[in-house]
Amino acid sequence: MNGGSPRTGAEPRAPEPSLHGDERIAPPPEPTRVFSGIQPSGFVHVGNWLGAVRNWVELSTRLDCLFCIVDYHAVTVPYAAAEMPSRTFEAALTLLACGLDSERGILFVQSHVPEHMELAWVLTTLAPMGELERMTQFKEKSEAYGVQAGLFMYPVLQAADILLYKADGVPIGEDQLQHLELTREVARRFNRAWGETFPEPRPILTDAPRILALDGKGKMSKSQPEQAIGLLDPPDVIRAKLRGAFTDPARKRRFDPGNPDICNIFFLHHFFSGPEDIARVDRDCRTAVLGCFEDKMNLAEHVIDTLAPIRERADELRSDPARVHAVLAGGAERASAIARATMDEVRRRMGLRA
Ligand code: SF4
Repeated sequence: MNGGSPRTGAEPRAPEPSLHGDERIAPPPEPTRVFSGIQPSGFVHVGNWLGAVRNWVELSTRLDCLFCIVDYHAVTVPYAAAEMPSRTFEAALTLLACGLDSERGILFVQSHVPEHMELAWVLTTLAPMGELERMTQFKEKSEAYGVQAGLFMYPVLQAADILLYKADGVPIGEDQLQHLELTREVARRFNRAWGETFPEPRPILTDAPRILALDGKGKMSKSQPEQAIGLLDPPDVIRAKLRGAFTDPARKRRFDPGNPDICNIFFLHHFFSGPEDIARVDRDCRTAVLGCFEDKMNLAEHVIDTLAPIRERADELRSDPARVHAVLAGGAERASAIARATMDEVRRRMGLRA
């Protein structure tokens, strides 16, 4: 394993401390509008699903939600133009297959609503350089791709994405808090300079599990699809990927007892297998009754069964691509109506096109 227990990140949260002894502090009100974005990578894996997409589907059943495929963010790193349309289509198809739909939220593509770029420029004039320089993601991506202004300004475009719709809730993981704080800062700066216009969006933090790559090295990632279980991977591919997955390194021979607490396969069982199976694996691994190959194939069948409805819906949509394009066109229309109203207000406040 890659150090420590893979359970980190899935632990239940401690209750919020009270500032007034036993008095309970009322929880903040639910957000009225939620915005979230996903890059058009063309490959959505179980880490994305368990950590974000499942939560989006749940939020869309009770809140006003916008889900955006952020293609302008994707152009900040090298890519093939010929592949971008299919990457965008696959991202939309996968989200729809996971349960998002046009009845319960707006699904659209960022570049179909040009106001994102216009507001990004306005916010660039307010964004603090010092905070942009401190962004962890900028440092990491600059090391990988070289320093360029697009990576530097990425969080300002994210701020524009959110504020354009006056969203007051953003479902994110802890690693995105830094970017959301920048959004809150530029919203405050705009409001101070030009009058109260934008809400300060709050994070909707979920206990998103940190799903490790199948080789146990770091987080499951789109950049290493061979070490990630794709939501739309065919059953044989899921079996093959799990067959080579890393387990407890102390189990060198079949009859060595194992420690499920440090095994990524056991961690994955918690999301795909029933309680009886989990208890059996926990017991039989420690006594070496259960071998790793057998257990990995057992997990593979549970993963295949769990993802089957998503795969089936994706197959249906793939046979009718016009349906996916229609959802995106309708989403762009609805998103544009909100975006145009916001930009009219922004320009009016700033004395532009008066
Ligand atoms: S039997 Fe299962 S839980 Fe135990 S080490 Fe092998 S793969 Fe992990």
